Amino acid sequence: MADVHSFESMAALDGEGLRYAIFLTGCPLRCWYCHNPDAWFPSGKNVTAEQAFQKARRFKPYFKHGGGVTFSGGEPLLNADFINETAELLHGEGIGYCLDTSGSVPLTDSVRKALDRADMVILDVKFPDPERYRLYTGGDFSRFIEIGRYCTKIGARLWLRTVVVPGINDSEADMEQYAALVKEFKFERYELLGFHTMGFFKYENLQITNPLANVAAMDRDRLDELQRYLNSILHPQSKGN
Ligand code: SF4
Repeated sequence: MADVHSFESMAALDGEGLRYAIFLTGCPLRCWYCHNPDAWFPSGKNVTAEQAFQKARRFKPYFKHGGGVTFSGGEPLLNADFINETAELLHGEGIGYCLDTSGSVPLTDSVRKALDRADMVILDVKFPDPERYRLYTGGDFSRFIEIGRYCTKIGARLWLRTVVVPGINDSEADMEQYAALVKEFKFERYELLGFHTMGFFKYENLQITNPLANVAAMDRDRLDELQRYLNSILHPQSKGN
């Protein structure tokens, strides 16, 4: 049983092919740029693994070209037992799953199992050093490192993602730090996402402080420039494209 924020069918945003996303509530982090603060709190919608499986199964015909279920959140790995239970049922139907995680949980046996059996893992690389990680997320950097290393060790298909926020992590020097940090991980792609303001209304509705209320959305051209720069460090042979 897990508390679910929402279910959503979507294109390849969070994994390959058509995804059926299960957003679970609860998160150990409080990222300043979070656009889903409503997922921090229980929704009261408790769902069993069987119910989640039945909902996802309806989309099976569309799960071609690597599609499947994505467990997201919040932090889905807070509910690793639920994921494992649901995965058991999904695998019985030949449906795989992707984990969209911040890597902010301890690496328990249950979390290992969820990572071991995932088709792929999308891991947020929040900040490249423990100090900023702590300041801007409230979380423990070493947990993220441990999960990144574990994914590398088991040969998980790993996609990395970083939200770039104006004035916080949007310099070339930041990209160099990120590139140095992920050097020890084996990953397929590393995508930068621009900070946006579309979730601001949720802070107002929840009456919680939005620490970035005065920050503008990330400029698209600048984001592209940073992505090219990051790529050029990660893949020097391909001239950054
Ligand atoms: S990990 Fe995700 S859900 Fe949790 S606070 Fe950060 S951005 Fe929000």
